Amino acid sequence: MSQKYTVPRGTKDILPSEIPFWHYIESSSRSLFGLYNYQEIRTPIFEHTELFERGIGDATDIVEKEMYTFTDKGNRRLTLRPEGTAPLVRAYVQNSIYAKSKVAKLYYCGPMFRYERPQSGRYRQFHQIGVECLGNALPIADAEVIAMGVHLFDELGLSGLSVTINSVGCAVCRPVIEERLKQFIGMNLENLCEDCNRRFDSRPLRILDCKNVTCKTYMTGLPDIRNSLCHECTDHFNYVVGYIDNLGIRFQINPQLVRGLDYYTRTTFEIVSDQLGAQNALCGGGRYDGLVSQLGGPATPAVGFAFGIERAVMILQELSDYHQKVNPLIYMAPVGFDQVAKCFLLVDRIRRAGYRVELEAGKTDLKSHLKQADKLDARLVLIYGETEAEQGNILVRRMTDRTQESVDFDAVLEFLLAEFGPGHG
Ligand code: ATP
Ligand code: MG
Repeated sequence: MSQKYTVPRGTKDILPSEIPFWHYIESSSRSLFGLYNYQEIRTPIFEHTELFERGIGDATDIVEKEMYTFTDKGNRRLTLRPEGTAPLVRAYVQNSIYAKSKVAKLYYCGPMFRYERPQSGRYRQFHQIGVECLGNALPIADAEVIAMGVHLFDELGLSGLSVTINSVGCAVCRPVIEERLKQFIGMNLENLCEDCNRRFDSRPLRILDCKNVTCKTYMTGLPDIRNSLCHECTDHFNYVVGYIDNLGIRFQINPQLVRGLDYYTRTTFEIVSDQLGAQNALCGGGRYDGLVSQLGGPATPAVGFAFGIERAVMILQELSDYHQKVNPLIYMAPVGFDQVAKCFLLVDRIRRAGYRVELEAGKTDLKSHLKQADKLDARLVLIYGETEAEQGNILVRRMTDRTQESVDFDAVLEFLLAEFGPGHG
């Protein structure tokens, strides 16, 4: 037998049965971001390695352990993008987007690559949708970004989510925060993992994000970061929290939430799901006021988030009402070959109205049509046989409760509108 090939470890095929979820998430994101006046940007899948070393920070898990880095035939050091913010900021600077308007609101969607230990909800190639608002330092910008995430997940019908928020301070108060942390962590340093020890001096905040269970146990009783914030950061945080509270968004403050990338300043937040198991984070984001200048652009405040499509799909698949969300399948069943032409005409009308229809002209008896409709998970079967042709009707059968009713041939679109709402076309 010839050799069989499989996907590389940590990657997967997204099969046709899963694709409706992907389309649903992608198209809902695009239209919702449009409502907030965001525009899409597409950057290359690979970038110069230095961009990530400098942008994400060299003391992060991503840069230390997880990058897919290679040298091309021209001896360039390149890396498959592990995240979308650094490339977007690179594009923002390179294309002088800052010169066109004071605020740029951009989103992206596509594959990311991290050499991680694969497990449920954690892949080596995964997909993110992310938004970045550049040029707005006001707390309302943080609040709008968080609100947009919550709005999107509400729209998608993802339940069981909660928002966690924190502030990690700015260039002024960060050294104070780090000093306090070091005093506390220093007491137990010998019990913490190698990574934590290495990061103690240069990036003590990173230690709060360590996933090691033993390290986590030594973090109980940690001083609340927020007590060390400067006035401006405290004000900023209180405004952000006040704005989202006003919108009725439920959130918790978690003083240990620092997130895995070095570039964050002030606000950090996460949206977690109770349906994802160990990999419970669906969405992560925050403010990163220093990144644009660090990557060679003019000093520009920024805030954004990214969420994982695979994890959003996992939650959707758990929800029983997801069927309501994807365009339901209608099955057209001509009973007898003579009816095929008329059915072809009808499905054309229905598709043009934006509904999804399968016309099965290879079968001509009702029983095998119904069997096939079941197999395809159709929600509705439109039956058109000799009797219906004589009476100018269509027999409509709901597959969920097996109820049937007769509808005038020319009134099928009105019936579908009442049944499913407007078509998606
Ligand atoms: P985690 O704590 O799960 O490792 P993270 O903090 O590394 O997440 P970010 O870099 O902020 O995550 O990315 C934002 C989102 O992208 C995550 O909340 C998650 O939904 C998704 N994500 C991150 N890494 C992976 C991965 N390896 N596989 C699938 N999805 C991922
Ligand atoms: Mg991670």
